[in-house]
Amino acid sequence: MTKQYADVIIEIAHEKVDRVFQYRIPDELSEAVKPGVQVRVPFGKGNQEKTGYVVDLSKEPDYPPEKIKAVSAVVEKAVSVEGRQIEIAYWLKSNYGSTTIAALKTVLPVKQKQKQLEKKKVLRRLSAAEIAQAACECERKHQRAKARVLTALQTEEELPYELIRQKLHVTAATLQALEKQGYLRIEREAFYRNPVKAVDRSEVRPVLSQTQQRIIGEVLADYRAGQPGVHLVHGVTGSGKTEVYLGIIEEMIAMGKQAIMLIPEIALTYQTLLRFYKRFGDRVSVINSSLSAGEKYDQIERAKAGEIDVIIGPRSALFTPFQNLGVIVMDEEHEGSYKSETSPKYHARETAVEIAARNGASVVLGSATPSLEAYYRALQGHYKLYEMKERPGVSMLPAVHTVDLRKELREGNRSIFSRKLAALMEERLSKSEQTILFLNRRGYAGFISCRACGHVMKCPHCDVSLSEHNNGTLHCHYCGYQERKPAKCPSCGSPYLMGFKAGTQQVEEAIHKVFPEARVLRMDGDTTRTKESYEKLLSAFADERADILVGTQMIVKGHDFPKVTLVGVLAADLSLNQNDYRAGERTFQLLTQAAGRAGRGERPGEVVIQTYRPDHYSVVYAARQDYKGFYREEIAYRELMGYPPVEHMLAVLILSRVQEEGERLGTEMTELVKKETADVKGLRVIGPAEAAIGKLADVYRHVLYVRHGDYRTLVKIKDTLEHYCKERESKNQTVQFDFDPMNTY
Ligand code: ADP
Ligand code: ZN
Ligand code: ZN
Repeated sequence: MTKQYADVIIEIAHEKVDRVFQYRIPDELSEAVKPGVQVRVPFGKGNQEKTGYVVDLSKEPDYPPEKIKAVSAVVEKAVSVEGRQIEIAYWLKSNYGSTTIAALKTVLPVKQKQKQLEKKKVLRRLSAAEIAQAACECERKHQRAKARVLTALQTEEELPYELIRQKLHVTAATLQALEKQGYLRIEREAFYRNPVKAVDRSEVRPVLSQTQQRIIGEVLADYRAGQPGVHLVHGVTGSGKTEVYLGIIEEMIAMGKQAIMLIPEIALTYQTLLRFYKRFGDRVSVINSSLSAGEKYDQIERAKAGEIDVIIGPRSALFTPFQNLGVIVMDEEHEGSYKSETSPKYHARETAVEIAARNGASVVLGSATPSLEAYYRALQGHYKLYEMKERPGVSMLPAVHTVDLRKELREGNRSIFSRKLAALMEERLSKSEQTILFLNRRGYAGFISCRACGHVMKCPHCDVSLSEHNNGTLHCHYCGYQERKPAKCPSCGSPYLMGFKAGTQQVEEAIHKVFPEARVLRMDGDTTRTKESYEKLLSAFADERADILVGTQMIVKGHDFPKVTLVGVLAADLSLNQNDYRAGERTFQLLTQAAGRAGRGERPGEVVIQTYRPDHYSVVYAARQDYKGFYREEIAYRELMGYPPVEHMLAVLILSRVQEEGERLGTEMTELVKKETADVKGLRVIGPAEAAIGKLADVYRHVLYVRHGDYRTLVKIKDTLEHYCKERESKNQTVQFDFDPMNTY
């Protein structure tokens, strides 16, 4: 049966899309009415004709059919930019499961009244040497913000105002003060016309290696031949992938095309952005979480109006409505942050491939540790694969030592530093080289439990273990709940209530004990609540204001520290203990990326991996920097278990205020799936079960998994379940769908 009803939105401004109106599709228009198409409809009491967009189709009416008006006409025009966005919203909804509204809000920019942003730039008025002196002066007076600006202006004669404001975290007042003092000049729009003299001119371009040239050439040749396709660049950290992206984008722009450059938020550092500004001047813009809604909207409008050619940003930049999209580049393609955590739970990689296909654009994925998904597809011939095995110039891959912590303990070393690591740290301190210590948890990792009875201290709202902080409080990292650490076990009264593994704070304390003279910086979720504090810490370390940087996953991203010659991973297997099918992959990625932080300058680097499981394949292959070895082992496991990417997996998460009701809905849905799919071969249904986190903020969580080789089969199951929930009208429960989830629930 054909779809007889169309949901139409009359105005597509983000804050208006909450209202969709249903219309009947007359027979003669049944072919032409599709999501994304513009239609004329009668509206309101007077049936005034209005133009709207079709956002969804359905077989059944939401109201009595006699009350539903009919679509009057389809507006005959090529699909507009907005229309294409709505098509994507519809695709998101159908592919990942969500409401139409949520899908539209994902894709459409937030529209907010706000004054037009002025385009400004900052020019220095004194010589580099004078500016340098002024920077020192400010530093001495502890005028840090001013010092940051002046330091940046030492190397660049002029910089975009927005870049300075956002990335150096400087207020407008500070810049005005510096202008008053005569150090710099802020120029506005009228002067901004001639970008020739802008930042990009001072760029020193490396001579591209043959590999880099070959990759750029092949991607563009495929594009010109009308087969844009998907390209995966597997290149070790620092091998020159970014130069490849820049080269491809540059050629695309020369052809009159535009580019979307996706970078995980955490890696969107000042240095990275500067490389793009230098190359593309004011034809590039950036979207990130520090922009206000109005500023974001502005960037989208500029893209639509053809004022910019390149947009840089995290996941959401994918929906930038360019007229002539030529390429979507996705750096660090394996990053978990490319998957949306809210409904629709889309993955930016799959969505990029879809958007590119609809626009005839290329996709370029890059990573030092490609996701199993991307590599699997490349080996199957769906993506083209390129390898970059070496770093340009003199910098070499580091030497890696694996240390068995069990053996350390047996031999009487109870410190969190193995003898090898301690010796190398000492050596670095004596040579004034830098060390990074990496711990893959934040706060005091692990949990507090009773050594006498095994009772674990848990959050009363979330069913996760609490972590201990230095001040003697216990924290829940999910909901923020805090309590004082009790003196005795609440279960048996024993006083032996203790934490297990070391957290970043303990590591810092341990360093102070062993190396009292060492200058230490600590970076974790607690010291970097804001983006500002994050970049501050990074630049302090880059300026060699510390010898040792201790941190969680966030230190392994993006930044280049040429003076770092030692990386220590304190407990490599912590992340293996997660009860999750991607734990091995995540561990391998973290270890490899951490190792890649060492020896990026001219001096060779060393890496120490401390672990309780030195023979786990994730650890072994990371130590050898052997991606392919790891891939072979991991994909065999996924094949055996039917996990993605070999098969697809749909997680159905049921959230319920009342435990029994959640359980019941889970059982009903499981039975329904089993009944509906009785004749589908190779389908596995697992559950329903209480989720690993059975309760979060007083909401009970149940989960059921369905696995099958064919994605469409799972989409059909999702549709069936969605329909079932709608009919059942279960008020106290919410159901969420997650395809090929990044974590198990
Ligand atoms: P990746 O993105 O793979 O981490 P980058 O493109 O950032 O690598 O390159 C790492 C460093 O090597 C950068 O400082 C970059 O300028 C430099 N570089 C890249 N390609 C070349 C080249 N062909 N010759 C010399 N230096 C290069
Ligand atoms: Zn106890
Ligand atoms: Zn909690």
